Parts: sequence; C-alpha cells; structure tokens
Amino acid sequence: MYYILTMTIFKNKDDLFKNISFLKGVGPKLSKYLKNKRIEKINDLLWHFPYSSTDRSDMVALNRLEVGKIQTIKVKVLKYNFPRVRNLPNKVICSDEFSKIDIVFFNSREGYIRSVLPINKFVLISGKISFYRNKYQITNPSYITSIDKIDYVKKNIPKYSLTEGLNEKSYRKIIEKVLNNLPNLEEWHDKDILEKFGFCSWNESILKVHNSNNSDVENNKYLRRLALDEILSNLIVLSKNRKKFKKIIKESKIFNNSLSNKILNNLNFKLTKNQQEVINEINNDLKSEKKMFRILQGDVGSGKTIVSFLTAANTLEIGYQTALMAPTAILAKQHYNLAKKIFDGTKIKIKLLTGKTETRLRKKILEELKIGEIDLLIGTHALFQKKINFKNLGYIIIDEQHKFGVKQRMSLANKGGKNCDVLLMSATPIPRTMMLTIYGDMDVSRLIEKPKNRLPILTYSKPEKKIDELIKIIKKNLSQNNQVFWVCPLIKDSQFLDYSSVNKRFNWLKKQFPNETNILHGELKQDEKNLVLEKFLNKKTKILVSTTVIEVGIDFPDANLIIIENANKFGLAQLHQLRGRVGRGQKQGKCILLFRDNLSKNSIQRIKILKKSSDGFFIAEEDMKMRGFGDIIGYQQSGSKFFRIADPIDHSDLFIYAENYLKKIENENLDRFDFLVKLHDRAEIIYSKYD
Ligand code: ADP
Ligand code: MG
Repeated sequence: MYYILTMTIFKNKDDLFKNISFLKGVGPKLSKYLKNKRIEKINDLLWHFPYSSTDRSDMVALNRLEVGKIQTIKVKVLKYNFPRVRNLPNKVICSDEFSKIDIVFFNSREGYIRSVLPINKFVLISGKISFYRNKYQITNPSYITSIDKIDYVKKNIPKYSLTEGLNEKSYRKIIEKVLNNLPNLEEWHDKDILEKFGFCSWNESILKVHNSNNSDVENNKYLRRLALDEILSNLIVLSKNRKKFKKIIKESKIFNNSLSNKILNNLNFKLTKNQQEVINEINNDLKSEKKMFRILQGDVGSGKTIVSFLTAANTLEIGYQTALMAPTAILAKQHYNLAKKIFDGTKIKIKLLTGKTETRLRKKILEELKIGEIDLLIGTHALFQKKINFKNLGYIIIDEQHKFGVKQRMSLANKGGKNCDVLLMSATPIPRTMMLTIYGDMDVSRLIEKPKNRLPILTYSKPEKKIDELIKIIKKNLSQNNQVFWVCPLIKDSQFLDYSSVNKRFNWLKKQFPNETNILHGELKQDEKNLVLEKFLNKKTKILVSTTVIEVGIDFPDANLIIIENANKFGLAQLHQLRGRVGRGQKQGKCILLFRDNLSKNSIQRIKILKKSSDGFFIAEEDMKMRGFGDIIGYQQSGSKFFRIADPIDHSDLFIYAENYLKKIENENLDRFDFLVKLHDRAEIIYSKYD
C-alpha cells in the first residue's frame, strides 16, 4: 500500500525512521539525489545541518586562504575548462580582487557547472582549500550559491549544502515540513546535565541548529547538546554489547602453563614486563567462566605475536583447538612458519589454510579439523567460511583487526560459539581519550613497552631537491646487506595531484639499480603482489618502491631503510606505522622523510614529534590534536561517519564527560536511551545473538 504522510505527520515518533519517500513531494528522483547526500530516512534530514552552522570560518579573501581548512570565498567566475576526457575533472577558474582560484569538479556534468557558476557572476563557494601547482583550489565544493541570492542569508533562511539535482527551494520545503512537525520527545537526560551545560530540550536544540539566525552555532549549546546525545548513544550501544558478551558463560579453561613454559625456555629473548602482564590478563580470561572478548593494542613491533602464541599454548595444552587469522596470505604464512618453529618438538599439529590452499589439501584439512586431528589452524579469512567445522574450537586470535568495524567485531565475537574465547590484535594505537568511544564493547590490553633490544628508528627529513643524495645512501645500505622501502603516495603521475608516483620513482631507481628494484601497489592482482613480496622477503630484490600497501605485520628482518616521499601528505600515525616496517631485526632502522622546500609551521611541528618520539600512543594523541578524529587510522575503517555531529576536538570536554557519566549510569536500566540510540542509527549494531 502506498502511504503519504500529510501535514499531521509524526503522530508516532517512530515515523521519523520511515523512508524519505514517505514525505509528500519526495519522488523517486529526489530520493535518489538525497541518497547521494546519505539522506535515506527522515531522521537523516535532521543531521544535515545548514552550512552556516557547520562552516568553520567566515568568508575569506583569496590572499588569506589556508590549505586544509574549510573556507568560504566570494569570487567572480572567469573561465571554464572542460577537458571532455574521461577521468579528467572539469575546472572553473574564479577570482577576487587579490588572486585566482581553481574550482575542480570530479563527476559533475558541464550543464550543472554552467548553471551554478555562470561566467562573470559573483558566487559564494565553500569547501576544503588545497594547493596544487602553485595555485589554490577547491575540489568538489560543498556549497555554491550565487550572490544575488545572498539576501536569503540576510533573511536568515538556512542554507544547506546541496548536490547536483537538489535545489534549495524544494529541499527547504522538505526540511521545513519535518521541522514543523517534530514529535515531542520525552527527555532522556537528567535535569542536572541540562542545567550543568545550559542545554535545552532536544526539539528546541534541533530547531535552533537548523535556524541560520545562529550563525555561530559551531560551539553553541544547541549543537553541543546534540553532540553529547550522539556521543552518549555510541557509548550506550557499546556498553550494552559489552554487558551482553559478559553474560555469556563458558567452560573455564584449566591449565598449568606446562606447554607455554616449555616454549618460553626455548625463546632467545626474555619477555618484557608488559608482555608478561598482558599474558596474565589473557590467561585470567581464559580461565574465567566468561567468554573472553578482548583487544590487544600494541605498536608495530611491540611483540604481540609471541603473546598470542604463549596464550594459545595454554588452550592447546588442554586439548582445545585454536585458530589464528591474519589479513593476508603472506602474513598467515609467516605466522605459520613461526608457529612451526615455536611448537617444534611438541605434539601440537599445525596447518595453514588460505585462499591459495589447493582443493585436495583443503579438503583434507577440513576433514582433520572435524575429527580434531589439527590443533592449531593458521590462515586468512578462509578459516571462517561456513563449511569449516572444528571439533572443539576454544580460542580464536585475529591479527591486525583494525580493518574491521563494530558490526564485524560482533560477528567475530560469535565465531566458534560460546566456549570459544576471542582475542583481537591491532597495531593501531588509539588515544586513551578515545578508547571507550572506539572499543567500549571489549576489554582492552595495551602493550606500551617495547622489547629492550629494539633500537628506536632514526628519523631524518630532507628536501626533495636533494633527492640525488639518496642514491649514495641506498648504495651504502645495499652494501651492508640492508633492504630499502621507498614509499610514494600515487601509483601513476597525475595531472591534478602534485605528488610523486610509484611508477615514476621505480623507473628512476631502476636506472641506478636495474636488478635490485621492484614495484608494489594496489592495482596489482593479489597473486602478483604476493610474488613481489616473496621476492623481497627472499632478498631476490633489495629495493621495493611501493604505495602504502606494504603489509603491516610482515617481518622483513633486513629492511632497515624506508624513504617516504611527500611526507606531508601522510598523517603522523600513518608515518609512524610506515616507519615501523623497518628496523625490526637487530640492526638500526632509519626513516627518511622527503619534503618540498617550503615547509609550513605545522609540518615542522609534525617532523619534530616523529623525530622525538617512538611511542605510537603518544603520536596518535598528537595526530588527533593536530588533524582531528577522522585521521586516526583504524578509526576510519572501524566506523566511517561514526560521528556526524560530535568532534573530538571541539567537543573534547563532552567526550570526557560522557565517558564518566556512562560509568556512573552503566548499571542502571538504560531503556530511556533506546530512542536516542535509534535516532543516531546505532540500534542495528546492538548485539542480539544471545537475547
Ligand atoms: P607486532 O606486535 O608488530 O606483531 P611482532 O610480534 O611481530 O610484533 O614482534 C616483532 C619482533 O620482536 C619479532 O621478531 C619478535 O620475535 C621480537 N620480540 C617479541 N618480543 C620480544 C622481546 N621481549 N624481546 C626481544 N624481541 C622480541
Ligand atoms: Mg603483528
């Protein structure tokens, strides 16, 4: 049945979660355009604030632009440049009395561009400022409006950032209809909180944020209330999931460390105190009656693998099968080889299973798993296909888990059933202040201490014009039996991005080192990638020119020099991870960051931090302070667009407040927040397996 919401919409507050097409005047075409703006349900409209409230700054003249910031400019349209070649963007040159700027459009049609940017007309444009080939540019601006419409602003009509196919008038009609008919919601916050922060009701806050009277809503109480709502909705869902996991009762695992002690005695190093602590934490979980769901966070090279093997030895000792999953076949193979070595001379039967395992062998492995002939299975996600049945799986270890989001985490928690403990490992340090926000559903262990023999990687910076000097440095390294990584941001040269490419650098290096150089990037097929990595691992090649795809976990013991081009393109945490790929053996690791000539203050500060510190947690914290939340690697993968309103820098006090508040109310009945959780689209990630 077709159902249209009339002006008396929202009799029921759950109507807010109906599809946008239930609104009068929203047909299939408009629905499609709205979907491009990630507006699908009616409540999505509410989080799409007018630009004046999300825009971070006032209008600026073209001689005062700041790269990387979202700014609004008032300019005249000068000239079009439509290359009419696939993959090349359309460009519009604009100017004000001070300078020129390029407005660059990927995936927008000429007709649309001509209509929003008519030649010789003045326009307001808002978007992120970048700098390319000595010119400022805005790529895919978030907002464009013509100046003759500026009186809209004066009349305080909210301006929304729109995309092709959406005009302001029809959009405003829709949002106004929704705003005028909002259901009255019962307050979910305690009075004290509202008073403490001077917050108003949810309805009033939403209405005020959508009203452009509040040109400085950025940090005002209306927006802040909605931000706290959002932060809390996230914490509540994670806490609910955590409580549910904690209710899962399992057979406790009783062991006496005999096998792990045996392994320990054969190691050629001593565990750090921190490793021992973490092992104790995990062992206690294994022994407990509650199913373990724990994440081990530790910087690259902090020695997580041995922690996982030593705890696995305990579950293996008492006859439970154990599975270790790695993100790639190469890493799985490396873990497998290490396990063979470590468990040598014991009764533990170990097998490797990846997507590359041939059918006959695979069949045999599946048989053996079912009857309990295999004790330790190591592999890629091939381990967890439906057809695979273990006899008595008791422990799952998942390496480099940062690629998974909350939802996937929940399905991992289910693997292996009730009696199976789950340990995730991640080399992406999360700042302490963000820990509950990101991992609130799990217990967290942290490996902060590095193995004693580890020399901190020496980090240098160099201007690009001295690039020729690197040839000598590489020669010296090769003569000392070292291998070299060379990282570039791009695969091919681009007409529009002024960064160095792997292809170009590979050709350049090959002239000097014809037999030693190889190339690796994301466009190669998986088999080709594996071949390249294996050659490098076997030292058939000595120099690997690569994008950032070099696997995090793989041990290349002789790779001791990494050169990173256009280093300012990468976030601090990412640079730290990249350099963590060298210096994992006994020898000194070195990292050279290449920069263009004129370094901004910000870049100089970043280099300083990297030179000074080798602590991934500290660096992650600094990275967040300088660039914000979205850039923490791992965060992005683990929940893109997780926060639409809250910003960890602008609202850092609210994040801290919410965590403390949650701890206070965690054990109460939290049903009053159910609607809030739904409003922020988090209901679907509530864990329901054992309800
Ligand atoms: P990651 O935490 O990045 O997974 P790995 O587990 O691969 O790190 O460990 C890196 C290297 O450090 C390995 O060669 C490992 O054998 C070694 N290692 C681990 N713990 C210690 C320790 N306590 N002392 C010395 N070397 C260690
Ligand atoms: Mg590892």
